[in-house]
Amino acid sequence: MGRILFFVALFAAIWIAWTFSRKRNRLDNEERRELERLRAKDRESRGLSRTPAGEAMVKCEACGVYFPKREAVLRGEHVYCSRRCRDRAES
Ligand SMILES: [Zn+2]
Repeated sequence: MGRILFFVALFAAIWIAWTFSRKRNRLDNEERRELERLRAKDRESRGLSRTPAGEAMVKCEACGVYFPKREAVLRGEHVYCSRRCRDRAES
């Protein structure tokens, strides 16, 4: 009889542990989703969305290449694609 009680208690303990771990996992998933949402919002606010469609493009005055305006290297009114182009235009 004592042995049966022992197994019942063991089963109950396992079931409780399993239930708690499941609840914990669900919480983790919710946290992960929340984090992902925040990260996407952050990307958007910095203008780094995954689809940079319609982004303003400018032409480098040194090499003539077109590139996103936010990557521009500026010197006065002049626009360059990189510091190397800016330095080349200076000399
Ligand atoms: Zn350039």
